[in-house]
Amino acid sequence: MVEDADRGLVEVDLLLAGGWLLTMNERREVYRDGAVAVRGTTIVDVGQRANLVERYRARRVIDTSRMVVTPGLVNGHRHLLCCPKGALPEGRQTLEALRTFTYPCFAALTEGQMHAYALHATAEMIRFGTTTFEEPGCNHLEAVLEALATSGIRCRVGPWTWDQRGPSGGADLPEWLVMEPDAALDRLRKGIETVRAFNHPLIRDAVTIEGVGTCSDTLTLGAAKLAEEADSLAVLHKATSEREVALELEVFGERPLQHMHSIGALNPWVLLNHMTSLAEFEVDLVAETGARISQNPSSALKFAKGTTQTGKWPELLAAGVPIALGTDAENVSNHQDICRSMQLAALLPRDARRDPNAVTAEQAVEMATISGAKALRWDDVTGSIEAGKEADITCFDTEDFDWRPLHNPVANLVYGSTGHSVHTVLVAGEVVLDAKRLTRVDEEQVREAVERIDREVLATIGIEPGPSWPVL
Ligand SMILES: [Zn+2]
Repeated sequence: MVEDADRGLVEVDLLLAGGWLLTMNERREVYRDGAVAVRGTTIVDVGQRANLVERYRARRVIDTSRMVVTPGLVNGHRHLLCCPKGALPEGRQTLEALRTFTYPCFAALTEGQMHAYALHATAEMIRFGTTTFEEPGCNHLEAVLEALATSGIRCRVGPWTWDQRGPSGGADLPEWLVMEPDAALDRLRKGIETVRAFNHPLIRDAVTIEGVGTCSDTLTLGAAKLAEEADSLAVLHKATSEREVALELEVFGERPLQHMHSIGALNPWVLLNHMTSLAEFEVDLVAETGARISQNPSSALKFAKGTTQTGKWPELLAAGVPIALGTDAENVSNHQDICRSMQLAALLPRDARRDPNAVTAEQAVEMATISGAKALRWDDVTGSIEAGKEADITCFDTEDFDWRPLHNPVANLVYGSTGHSVHTVLVAGEVVLDAKRLTRVDEEQVREAVERIDREVLATIGIEPGPSWPVL
């Protein structure tokens, strides 16, 4: 350590000084007037502000005395393959919406458009406090990697992969990336190689298959095994609706999660997205096998998945399953705000069970931080504010009505906040959002580029969006 010769101070790059600090460490310690010292990418000390300002001299001090400081938020399910936000025709449920709007949009994207969407989505996530996310399968992987590196966000990513030989059949699916199971597994292996060759410290690989009835058992099992062998993460959409359950019961005589278990495709390297339709016994199958989950409450609500009736969130939490919160794609959440996901994740099960303790505010914060990092197999690096971990940190501005009065930051964060109050964001020690402005990308340019691309894509798939009311 470099010491200031005159005063015996240790030099660091950054000191966050003051305010409420939720560490999310093993003991879940909270400081009323905390501080975090950062050198390079890493947290070197966490403690009382009064102690740390005595010990360290920082190149930059950020006064967080009027802020609430938390670990960077984790988004466990966010597509970079995008479609025009707000343009999805209303009134469609999961399978129909995917086949008539989402897949055709995905198939229409060029490499340049994919890059622009990736830059836009990551910029939006950082603006709302997310520092780490899981991308469940993109196209034009190289272009996405470039966009990720530009944005400065932490991400697990892989190539969109399916063989269209699953229980829902190939009807209505686009002629896009259709391949034999072996070729699909090759694409997944190459995806890992491509991400590892890119060799970016903030980017890890994922074995991304689509699921939702579009993948054969050979591909699903192969993906789960590949993730284990390569110490990666197999990611797929599973048990996403009652219709998917009915399809698999018809074809396999088993429910979707039950069937994955039967073929041996559940293991600790598997992340299951959605999981809104579970039977009681399937909770045990998830817990026993060590699989992980991303819960996407606003997506479940918009697509009328029945998550309040067929979800098993309190049971999954009680069983110790690592659960992340996600926002899914453009038109199923229309936002990328994990604060809003926390609120829904805490409140929906209470109403469903008529039990105010069904999911606690503390459990919602855990899902958005340390549990989310575990779900993504990245808690060795991120998810809590502790010495030795990378400095992924989100600071909320409390100078507005949503955060005040401020007696219990956990309650205000879960029930009252939105991502708009995010003030400063660090990823691996770098300030990527500074006083609510992105430091790495030009926000207006990114927004304009995406609106232009949206219009091109909508013209290609023949949809003209707008309100159902007369537009004058
Ligand atoms: Zn999804």
